[in-house]
Parts: sequence; C-alpha cells; structure tokens
Amino acid sequence: MQFQQLMPVGYMKQPTLKTFVIAKIKKENTEKCIKLYKQKYHQYFYQHDYLKLIKQGQEKDYVLMLFCFPEDLDKMKLDFEVEQFFEIQLPSIAPINKEQKQIYDEYWNILHPNYEYPHKQNKDAPLKMQQILDTKQTRNKCILYNDENDIIIEAEDETHINNVRHCVMVAMEKLAEHNKNQNNQKHFRETQYYAREMTLVTYFEPCIMCSMALIHSRIKEVYYYQKRVVDGGLNDQLQINNMKQLNHKYLVFYQH
Ligand SMILES: [Zn+2]
Repeated sequence: MQFQQLMPVGYMKQPTLKTFVIAKIKKENTEKCIKLYKQKYHQYFYQHDYLKLIKQGQEKDYVLMLFCFPEDLDKMKLDFEVEQFFEIQLPSIAPINKEQKQIYDEYWNILHPNYEYPHKQNKDAPLKMQQILDTKQTRNKCILYNDENDIIIEAEDETHINNVRHCVMVAMEKLAEHNKNQNNQKHFRETQYYAREMTLVTYFEPCIMCSMALIHSRIKEVYYYQKRVVDGGLNDQLQINNMKQLNHKYLVFYQH
C-alpha cells in the first residue's frame, strides 16, 4: 500500500505573489533606518520573516529595504528619510525546500533556516490501514498508535449517540481516559498533550472538526484512505494540518 503525502500549498510551484512597498535608501542612512524600523515596526512583517529586510540596490550607493504594505505607506513613511518608494511583487509564503528557495531568491533575498518539509513515512501505517480494511467496521474506524508501533486506541464512529462522535473524536476521548489511568499518569504529566509522537490511521479523511481536535492533541502524523466529498479538513483545498496561524502542525498522507 502506497501513500501520497499532502504537501503544503505551493510546494514546488511558482510562488503566489503579494505587493510590498520597498524603500530606496541612501547607503549612509541604512543603519539608522534599520534601527528605527526595528524599534517601531519590529512585529510588522512577522508572517513574512523569511524575507530579508535589506537588499543591495542596483545603484551602488543605495540599498533597498522591505518597508510595508501599500495601504500603510502614508502613515509610516513620515518616520523615515527615504529617497523613493516603489511597489514590487514578492513571494507571499515562505519556501519549504531548497529548490523553492532558489526560485524565491530571484524575487528578493530569502532567509529560511529549515527548507526541507519532512516526508518520511511511517513504516507501520500500511499494516495498520490493512488492519482497518480487514474489519467489518472499516468505514467508521481509526487506530492510534505510538512510536513503538503499539496500538494505544481503536475507535469507531458513535454518531448513533451524537452527531459529533466521529471516530477521531471518540479516539481522543478514549485517549484522554487512557492517559488518566494510574499507570499512565507520569506520561500524561510529562507530555501534557494527549497524542504527542502518535500516529493516527483512519479510513475517512478527518472532517474539519476532527482535524482541529488533532491539532489540539499534538498528533505527529495522520494517514487516511478515502477523501471526504464535503467537510474534509486535510486536503489540497483546506490543509488544517499546515495552517500557519495554528501552533502545531502534523504530516498527512493519503491513499491515492
Ligand atoms: Zn470528524
């Protein structure tokens, strides 16, 4: 059984571009400008911290500085001694591998410490999926196992009890119970997060709700067999596992 990885949007493609305002600054003013900029606007580009602040201009006496978004120019420009402002298009998200960094570097100098998107697949996932396929309850079932390949939780849909009791939600509930047991108390206290270093194998793509629950659990990887027609949370359109705004990410693989 082969799984394909759900790669972050834009992987190995030309970047989607966004308009930024660039300031052309006399070289002798560079240090002053950077200092002021960092004092007043150090948070401004927090989602674009892969873009270097300064770049050598084509004219040797000038440097170019990443300055702001067009809508903020009027309120920000008065603070600085700038020769000229102009708009350019720059990659709107960080590169995720070396090849992509090279492409992005042609737009602007890119700073990005870890390019390689992790892609190593869990050797046991095909076996666990086969185990699900071999049961009667295949379509409603999921298995959660740890980094030693021990199955920790098996769960099935309980939507006959309640509409939101999808198998992943049931698994999370069972896992919380499991972690509270006396024997596992230490593990629970040390990790805090239920599913850290665990892998989930499930027949159906987790829905949006379950994908979020998996974020909270700090799961490591998710494997699924069948895409959902509606409300799926882990597909090319909606990659909840890769959302930049959320404080945890996990890898997703699916049967192609
Ligand atoms: Zn669900």
